[in-house]
Amino acid sequence: MKAPGFMKLLAQLPSLNQPQRLQLLAVLHPAAGLDRVVALIAEIRAPRRRCPDCACERCHRHGQANDLQRFRCCQCGRTFNDLTGTPLARLRLKAKWLDYLAELLDSRTVRSAAEHIGVHRNTAFRWRHRFLHWVKHDRPQQLTGIVEADETFLLESQKGSRKLDREPRKRGGKAALRGISRHLDCILVARDRSGQTIDAVTGRGALKKSQLVQHLLPRLDPQALLVTDTNAAYRAFAGDHAIAHECVNLQAGERVRASGNVAIHVQNVNAYHRRFKEWLARFHGVASWRLPNYLGWRWALDGGRITSIEQLLRIAIRLIHI
Ligand SMILES: [Zn+2]
Repeated sequence: MKAPGFMKLLAQLPSLNQPQRLQLLAVLHPAAGLDRVVALIAEIRAPRRRCPDCACERCHRHGQANDLQRFRCCQCGRTFNDLTGTPLARLRLKAKWLDYLAELLDSRTVRSAAEHIGVHRNTAFRWRHRFLHWVKHDRPQQLTGIVEADETFLLESQKGSRKLDREPRKRGGKAALRGISRHLDCILVARDRSGQTIDAVTGRGALKKSQLVQHLLPRLDPQALLVTDTNAAYRAFAGDHAIAHECVNLQAGERVRASGNVAIHVQNVNAYHRRFKEWLARFHGVASWRLPNYLGWRWALDGGRITSIEQLLRIAIRLIHI
């Protein structure tokens, strides 16, 4: 539209009544959503824009495609856009992405998110896991000071699998085996007293020392004081790696113990387990292999750590801590 016509249109807007204003907003919303998300993607990726093939930082603009600017690498000639190589590459309906991120921030179920933003449920489900794919890697580099660690268990789920490797369960079923068995997924959570948290799905069954070496050791400050329950795996792990270690004997009813001026307990990490499970309940069972995505999602939301859709998009398309 030419400028004089646009000025005339603008001048008429104050005379709209409320239903008309709402209609106008509804018409503009998708286009505005697209403009905003495209601008944000460019802003997030520009500082680290490089060729996905040869990592060369020199590139020049090379037309537009799928609403995004394309670039051509000066060294190898490959063309790419700001989403090439990210989990969001080739995902469609960009105009709705920011609305979808708001649904993620609100922990909406697939059904409710799909209804709110007007996409198919399968799309909402696919988007959930594409958006969370890198979010789960956004973790603190290191836990320091007093570090509580404890494991919790969830009934393993093969939801969505075509082939089960066990007898099917009735809805809301229980594990067929008692105690900590191969029918339970073990989730290790470690949290320092500043609230930094890491977690890992260590596999089915009881926690092993080797899993602590794999998941906890790389993120544990060597000077940290590890606090756990009396599970022998932690004691052996701490002994092998010369990590200061204190236990609290939960089985004997001990909850808090003082050691010098330090309160020895695992209440922060147990509260984190509780919050995770309460939050997870709304999804009515999630497939075991997708658990890391849900843990990452929960960590983003916990304690109001991520509060805006811009922050969420930033970590969905830019690796921060790897
Ligand atoms: Zn290149």
